[in-house]
Amino acid sequence: MTDQIMHIGCHLSSAKGFLAMGREALSIGADTFQFFTRNPRGGRAKAIDPEDAAALRQLLTENHFAPIMAHAPYTLNPASGDERVRRFAFEVMADDLARLEYLPGAFYNFHPGSHVGQGLETGLTLIVELLDAIITPAQSAPVLLETMAGKGSEIGRTFEEIRAILERVKLPERLGVCLDTCHLHEAGYDLIGDLEGVLNHFDQVIGLGRLRAIHLNDSLNPAGARKDRHAKIGQGQIGLPALVRLINHPRLRHLPFFLETPNELPGYADEIRLLRQAWGQ
Ligand code: FE
Ligand code: FE
Ligand code: ZN
Repeated sequence: MTDQIMHIGCHLSSAKGFLAMGREALSIGADTFQFFTRNPRGGRAKAIDPEDAAALRQLLTENHFAPIMAHAPYTLNPASGDERVRRFAFEVMADDLARLEYLPGAFYNFHPGSHVGQGLETGLTLIVELLDAIITPAQSAPVLLETMAGKGSEIGRTFEEIRAILERVKLPERLGVCLDTCHLHEAGYDLIGDLEGVLNHFDQVIGLGRLRAIHLNDSLNPAGARKDRHAKIGQGQIGLPALVRLINHPRLRHLPFFLETPNELPGYADEIRLLRQAWGQ
């Protein structure tokens, strides 16, 4: 990893294994990628093939990849009022973190959860309890809280909610933040008109030093819609000029960017080419 180039990749299917994802990333001009640790609906994970993991590690090193990102199933709810649902989130996340020891340095990103009527305070307490139970000082995966659009009772829509988690966990140094541009826009932050103000606010509330990665998406909906519908780069309500300003911002441009736009591989290749050209201008 060097700071001379933009670090960018997209979400890839893990169906064919680790090395296949690394090769796929290279084939579309990416130097990182994101994948679901298991079926996004949260089922059983395939057994890890240590040789496949080792082959990917070698590919990542040889090609100077930026850190890759493992995404927890998005249906987990660490803030659920149902003990069985929380137990399931705990088991999946603890198992994911153990498996990620095969890919040292990969980020582990998750959605903080929805309090589903119990209220924000109870939800925050449950999330912190779960994180304290699964995070150990020895783990190599930084655990990232993703900023959310605020659909329903989703926690993590505001920087203040993210901070509330970070300041209550026992090992905050093991945690970081992944900022999703679609979610931020739909949460009501003014990425188009006031990027500087949004970043200053983030810095005051959370600290930009805690920001480790960006999910780079356009949004189908207007700012504040709280619906969470991703759009292709330049084809949504955020638009290309605002996204180009964002990737070039001096406080963001060194970060790894992960596309989660509605695309197949050729579409991702086009977006990566477009954004690499726009980076540095
Ligand atoms: Fe996500
Ligand atoms: Fe995202
Ligand atoms: Zn989303």
